[in-house]
Amino acid sequence: MKPPEVDRLAASKAAVAARRARAEVKTQVANGLRSILDVARAAWIDRSSAEAGLRVRELLLSLPKFGPVKVERILASLEISKSRKLGGLGVRQRARFERWFEAEEAESGSETFVRAHEPKLVVLAGPTAVGKGAVSDYIRANYPEVLISVSATTRSPRPGEVDGVNYRFVSDEEFDELESSGEMLETAIVHNAYRYGTPAAPIREALESGRSVLLEIDLQGARAVRKAVPDALLIFLLPPSWEELVRRLTGRGTESAAEQARRLATAKIELEAQDEFDFRVVNSDVAQAAAEVVELMGFSGKNQG
Ligand code: 5GP
Repeated sequence: MKPPEVDRLAASKAAVAARRARAEVKTQVANGLRSILDVARAAWIDRSSAEAGLRVRELLLSLPKFGPVKVERILASLEISKSRKLGGLGVRQRARFERWFEAEEAESGSETFVRAHEPKLVVLAGPTAVGKGAVSDYIRANYPEVLISVSATTRSPRPGEVDGVNYRFVSDEEFDELESSGEMLETAIVHNAYRYGTPAAPIREALESGRSVLLEIDLQGARAVRKAVPDALLIFLLPPSWEELVRRLTGRGTESAAEQARRLATAKIELEAQDEFDFRVVNSDVAQAAAEVVELMGFSGKNQG
């Protein structure tokens, strides 16, 4: 018998919340804010905790210097199966696990565990219609551990866009206020039409609390961020080819012919800027491009499933 609709809804909400909590633990480990032993002990104290629900393999993969091959070797030596959850380890497995990580911590002078990498401000830019929006939407839906900055804009919402999630949709007057109160890290007028800007406070707070942040902005914005935050990481999203970019731009059908021509001209100039960027990611497949961006951000990129 199927459970009633309400129960199923509640269960799926609880599952999403639990997945988020587990992702949060991995982010803390990835950012060196918590050691593996600390997470393991929390799991063993409370079997219903987020820590207990984490697979050992996934947890180890969130350590910056631990790749799949290394993790597989460690699991084999500890006699822990790939699918085992931290909370489900037997007494002997726990003892082996603790011994291994205590030794590792002593040996590495806890280097692997304390702030293995600093939180980063990461910018995703690229030519118009290359699919930045689709890639950042995909990251938003599938990688809850990645914080995506919510820009303010004076354009109106497109169908399906939600205020406060995709953008903060504001009036010209409200945008003036945000700008004059010094709230914005950068602002730009995009395609000679609407105003866009990145609110600074959420970014500052995220970086201070050890989280990396992703900005999906245009080229002017990327350059402004590079000036304001020199150690920001700049990623350029490329189309598989120029023809494909033209197809994507004309295929969207949301802009007039004149607007399309203007955007194509902008895209040509924008493509020439790719050498200013630290990394290039080709957007042939949205899920693949998203995974690469997340990996460049320093997350393991293997949090699916
Ligand atoms: P759209 O209106 O299609 O969502 O976005 C138009 C362009 O504005 C895209 O290239 C997008 O990356 C860029 N954009 C979105 N938010 C910001 C922002 O806060 N600052 C800047 N400079 N560009 C932005």
